[in-house]
Amino acid sequence: MPTSRRARIATWWPAWWPAWLPLTSLRLRLTLWYTVLLAATVCVFGLGLYLLLVRTLSQESYGVTVGVAQDLARTVQVLDAPPHGSLRVVLPPRNVFGAPDTFVQVADARTGRVVARSATLGAQTLPFLAQAVAAARRDQPMVRTLGAIDRLHIYSTPLVSHGRVVGVVQVGRSLSPDDHLLDRLRLLLALGGALVLPTAAGLGWVLAGRALAPIADFARTAAEIGQARDFSRRIAHHGPRDEVGHLAATVNAMLAELEGAHHEVEGAHHDLAAANARLAQTLAVQQRFIADASHELRTPLTIIRANADVLHWMDAGDAPERTEALADLAGEAARMSGLVNDLLTLARADAGQHLALHPTPLCPLVEEACRQARLLACGQEVVLDGADAATEVTATINPDAFKQLLLILLDNALKYTPAGGRVALALCREEGEVRVAVSDTGIGIAPGDLPRIFERFYRADGARDVGGSGLGLSIAGWIAAQHGGRITATSSPGRGSAFTVHLPTSVPDD
Ligand code: ADP
Repeated sequence: MPTSRRARIATWWPAWWPAWLPLTSLRLRLTLWYTVLLAATVCVFGLGLYLLLVRTLSQESYGVTVGVAQDLARTVQVLDAPPHGSLRVVLPPRNVFGAPDTFVQVADARTGRVVARSATLGAQTLPFLAQAVAAARRDQPMVRTLGAIDRLHIYSTPLVSHGRVVGVVQVGRSLSPDDHLLDRLRLLLALGGALVLPTAAGLGWVLAGRALAPIADFARTAAEIGQARDFSRRIAHHGPRDEVGHLAATVNAMLAELEGAHHEVEGAHHDLAAANARLAQTLAVQQRFIADASHELRTPLTIIRANADVLHWMDAGDAPERTEALADLAGEAARMSGLVNDLLTLARADAGQHLALHPTPLCPLVEEACRQARLLACGQEVVLDGADAATEVTATINPDAFKQLLLILLDNALKYTPAGGRVALALCREEGEVRVAVSDTGIGIAPGDLPRIFERFYRADGARDVGGSGLGLSIAGWIAAQHGGRITATSSPGRGSAFTVHLPTSVPDD
């Protein structure tokens, strides 16, 4: 929450408000709102009920008073009346006059003297007598209410005898029973309110707590998920699919999206780390390659320089030595040129060069390679196996590069096979691929060296006496890969080796 909003909220709080009950709590605010609304409802309802009762009781009391007075005015027995004498009347013997809260008196309209009264009045006289007599003389009734505490309703009506107003009948009715009833109602409402409001507030607090409990759970789980960054967790909600259920579903959907995004980021991190590792590895390989290449180039260069020096200081008469030195020069220059060619091929391979491939019949290519190998042979027999059966074999290749591959394998076979040995070249089509195998009966390769012979500049110990740079098989491996194929090697030390090129029959994608 922004600081300014928090500060504004803090300023609403009275200083005495307990800190453990923050007004920012939704539960407390809900309870307070509920209680205030309930209190307002109870007040309006209680007041309405009270006013209605006041009105009803007042109307009822008035009706009774008027009824009694009018009844009396009809039933009072007039014994004597002016002008013959003073007014004399007999009140009817009715129970109502004996009612403790009803007071009756009859007065002479001429003199204003009370001539008869109910037992409930004793020796007292009802008030407003003079006004009642005056109204009766005008043949009018009169209504008055006396007092604020012990209230009395008074109704006066003219007493008529032989068509003349002779007196006034006054009926008073005490409102005390009604007032007591209203007092009790007021007390009841106050007590009820005092009892109901705290109970309702307590119930509201409990209900709000129960309704908000899942939200508190959500907040706790969300905080845990955020801390542990475990986006696979979900908010557990087993209740109905109401607003809270909807909230849980929305938060869970959001978590699922977060989980997906998190996985993507992790995947990207992983890819980046892998790419970094590959880059580091490539750099290391390149550095080793440059070091090895420099080392390999230094030897022929040293020999060339030494021979050039020898030639420089030599006498014209030293013909055989000159010839030997020149032959050394030519040999080393050729070796260097071969090495530089190999390095160039590998550098192009590293730069991502691709060979152009097209369908080519393999048999003529293999036969030509075999012919060239025979020219290089120094006492080894070079044979071609199975070429007849595979006359029709066609593969998608780069003919020059593929021939270079075959010559590398044949050259190795001849280099590592002593005179009298046998080098065989075989072409066949098996298990959905084209296979070209170069086998020999040479020195073989130790099992420890076999997995490493395709590495650049790697040479087995037994091969050190024979010339070579250790790049041939690397180039052969790259050419095979460019054709979507591979080279496998098997060997038994002392008995011979076999290198097989596996080519797919379908065109490689790239
Ligand atoms: P090199 O120029 O040394 O021949 P290659 O990359 O062609 O380089 O071969 C790598 C190593 O594999 C050789 O030094 C040798 O130890 C071993 N090798 C390759 N072909 C044969 C084979 N036909 N017989 C025995 N060893 C072989």
